[in-house]
Amino acid sequence: MRLIMLGPPGAGKGTQAQRLVERHSIPQLSTGDMLRAAVANGTEIGRRAKAIMDRGELVPDDVVNQMVSGRIDQEDCRNGFVLDGFPRTVAQAEALTAMLEQRGVALDAVIELKVDRAALIERMEKRVADTLAAGRTVRSDDNPDTFARRLDEYRQKTAPLLSYYSRRGELVTIDGMRGMDIVTRDIENVLTKVDPD
Ligand code: AMP
Repeated sequence: MRLIMLGPPGAGKGTQAQRLVERHSIPQLSTGDMLRAAVANGTEIGRRAKAIMDRGELVPDDVVNQMVSGRIDQEDCRNGFVLDGFPRTVAQAEALTAMLEQRGVALDAVIELKVDRAALIERMEKRVADTLAAGRTVRSDDNPDTFARRLDEYRQKTAPLLSYYSRRGELVTIDGMRGMDIVTRDIENVLTKVDPD
């Protein structure tokens, strides 16, 4: 099963992707996690990406496209994967379409989690408070200014993907405002329809 989780920061893509990993035995490919690992490891990509990520902007398309292209060729992606945080621009979506065509495989669904802006900000504030209360380190891009920038980047650069995938007949929109378990159930209902096995 090959899926994309689409939605603004804080929509629950990561949480739902993790549940798909457990249920369908496919890996979660999070470009945000890959980039944070590159930053932590001090790689060339990490050095290029750090300042951009700290501003809440998008890392250049060629950097993420290359990361994903290499990742989907790994053995654990043979039976599918769930993309979380990629693609984020039309150029990335076009690159992904080409990557999949080259490999003779197709997407099963693009799942949009729809959550309104006020709820996203509230969720980010709660995540920060919970992280601090647990004595863990808060993500450097989880602060009000950077988060607002990430939401703007989503609106300007990622939201156009909704019509890209809708035209291709691959988009399914799910109300992400409700509880996590209800959202998980709705996603499973969609997947039963697109891939009854
Ligand atoms: P995320 O963990 O998905 O919220 O991503 C954190 C940050 O990593 C984003 O704000 C971007 O700076 C960068 N990033 C992650 N995925 C992408 C992508 N597909 N294209 C460009 N930048 C990305």
